[in-house]
Order: sequence, then C-alpha cells, then structure tokens
Amino acid sequence: MSTPSRPGTGSVPEVELVADCSRCFGLCCVVPAFSASADFAIDKPAGTPCPNLGGGFSCTIHAELRPRGFAGCTAYDCFGAGQRISQVTFGGVDWRTDPDRAPAMYAAFRVVRELHELRSHLAEARRLAVGAAPGTELGRDVEDLDAEVEQAAAGVLEELARVDLPALGARTGALLARVSATVRGPGGTDLARGDLVGADLRGRDLRAATLRGALLLGADLRGCVLDRTDLLGADLRGARLHAADLSRALFLTRPQVGAALGDLATVLPQDLPRPGHWTD
Ligand code: SF4
Repeated sequence: MSTPSRPGTGSVPEVELVADCSRCFGLCCVVPAFSASADFAIDKPAGTPCPNLGGGFSCTIHAELRPRGFAGCTAYDCFGAGQRISQVTFGGVDWRTDPDRAPAMYAAFRVVRELHELRSHLAEARRLAVGAAPGTELGRDVEDLDAEVEQAAAGVLEELARVDLPALGARTGALLARVSATVRGPGGTDLARGDLVGADLRGRDLRAATLRGALLLGADLRGCVLDRTDLLGADLRGARLHAADLSRALFLTRPQVGAALGDLATVLPQDLPRPGHWTD
C-alpha cells in the first residue's frame, strides 16, 4: 500500500514520515477494515489480515491491485507509522510471532498513523511558513505544535492510548488554516467544504482558492492551475486531474492523489510520486 511520503525537518526529532513497507509487518493490510465496494473487492474486518497478505508481510497481488479490485490499497499511506510501530514501538517482534500483543500493536498503529499524517502536514506548513513569513510567530507556532505531536507519537503504549486525537487534529487544522491564509493572500475563491461532486471546474480560476474539505468526487479539473490552492482534506476520488498543474497546491497528500485520475501531463508537487495508474 505504501510508498514515499515526506520527511520531518528542523529541530523536532527526525522521524521518518516516509512509508517503508520492507520494515513493516503489513499493518495497513491488517488493521483497517474494508467494505466491498469500488475500492475493495472483499469485506475485511478491522484487525484481520487480508487474504492477499503473504508470509513475508508483502502483498501477493501488488502488481495487479487495481485490476483485481483493490484500487483502495493504491491510495493508502501510513506516513511511516508502519515501520515505527513494527521496529521501534514493538522492537521488531511481529503480530504472528506474538499474537497476544497484536491488539496493542493495532491500536498503537491507528494512533501513530494519525499523528504522522498531522506531522506530514506540519512539515509542509513549516516549509511554507519559512517561505511566506520567515522569522515570524507563525513558523514558531508550527514548530511547537509539530514537537508536541511528535512527543505524543513517541509515547509508550499507555500514553498512546490517552492521546486526544480530535483535539490535536483540530489545533493542527486551525494552524494550517493560518499558514494557508498567509500563503494564499487575499482574494482567492472560498469553496471550503463545498459540494462540488461531478462539477466541471475547467476554466475556473482556482489559484489561491480554498477547497478545504470540499467534495470533489468525479469533478473535472482538467487543465486547472491549482497554484497555492488549499486542498487539505478535499475528497478527490475519481477527480479528473489530467494536465492540471498542482505543483504548488497546498496540503495535498498521496492518498488524495492516488484516489484521483490523472496522466503524464499532470504536474504534482516535487515530493509526491505520480500514481502508477496514471498514464496517457
Ligand atoms: S490487497 Fe494487498 S495491499 Fe491490499 S490490503 Fe490486501 S495484502 Fe494489503
């Protein structure tokens, strides 16, 4: 499921926010639940290994996930939580070897995955704040919150169980909004949380717009220039991004990109890989 994400920066402890499946016990193929749908060919309860997970914790159908009905797996990212839980928190002892500890491992993965996603956004926010408002309180606020999130992620199991994810998520969201407003400046269109399912947005000026939390399922964004466009939490499933320029889009993640449609002419931010299913 996982491929490179974004590294942390600065004085906050260096922790990989890049998934490394080779050091993970296949947690993304065990912990989440699936429902049979366009994204998954089967139902799978949470905490149960997917039948396609091999003995070495790798996917036995990795090369053909989409044709086999597992497109949802190609749009998943653990943000480096998998190898942290496997190798650091649980010291390299996997859930098959020590099944008694499996529930604790799964619970920890759920928490740390969320925290690493917040850290991934905060890493981007720090870069943006340094560029748009160097030496200001904004950058320091981002760094302080990033340090707090990292401290939570580094906790022992009992501490991880007490992490208030909704509160940290809300504070991170508010801070990212401040960074976004600073980077975008005045005048951008506000389409936050808009219902734009299937909308034809070609020709719309979306530069410096906010599309935070917008529903863009199947929306047509072909050829759009999403320069400083805030896409935090936007639902891009099936959105058409062919020939769109997202090189300076804000808070875009690999899962969002992996769930969208695009082609070789789509321009992505430098640190986001092009999904394998995007072709001419
Ligand atoms: S299909 Fe493969 S990648 Fe998807 S959950 Fe199952 S084992 Fe993991």
